[in-house]
Amino acid sequence: MTSTTPRTITKSDPTQLRIEWQDGHETVFRAVELRRLCPCARCIDEITGRALLDPATVPEDLTQTDVQLVGRYAISVRFSDGHDTGIYPYPMLREHDPAAS
Ligand SMILES: [Zn+2]
Repeated sequence: MTSTTPRTITKSDPTQLRIEWQDGHETVFRAVELRRLCPCARCIDEITGRALLDPATVPEDLTQTDVQLVGRYAISVRFSDGHDTGIYPYPMLREHDPAAS
């Protein structure tokens, strides 16, 4: 799927992650938006799917301190609040494009 495969992933500044997809679409996430999407077991209850993270507790000026590729399907992000357990599959990132919602 070209629409869910990144061509480039750029940390354009500490608060932004820019993904250019193979179909030419571009998605820009602020770190705070990524943090609020975090799908890890500490942020989303694995059984019920209930959100455990209160979005209001994530500061608007949050930054990402590290971004790692996870295999060929996802990225993991370490944030300035120390949270680093989230794995973000590419289709999920494309689906949650902040500009499309
Ligand atoms: Zn999390």
